[in-house]
Amino acid sequence: MVCGTKVELKPSDREFTCPSCGSWFNRDVASALVIKDSALVI
Ligand SMILES: [Zn+2]
Repeated sequence: MVCGTKVELKPSDREFTCPSCGSWFNRDVASALVIKDSALVI
């Protein structure tokens, strides 16, 4: 998670709320960020 809390996400979990800090996490957003980072590296 953004706060550093390790959370195991199930393949079916598209959305998740961190039990530690309560921040909302979205797989689609995360994927977009990864793609964005990859683009920067390339
Ligand atoms: Zn958190």
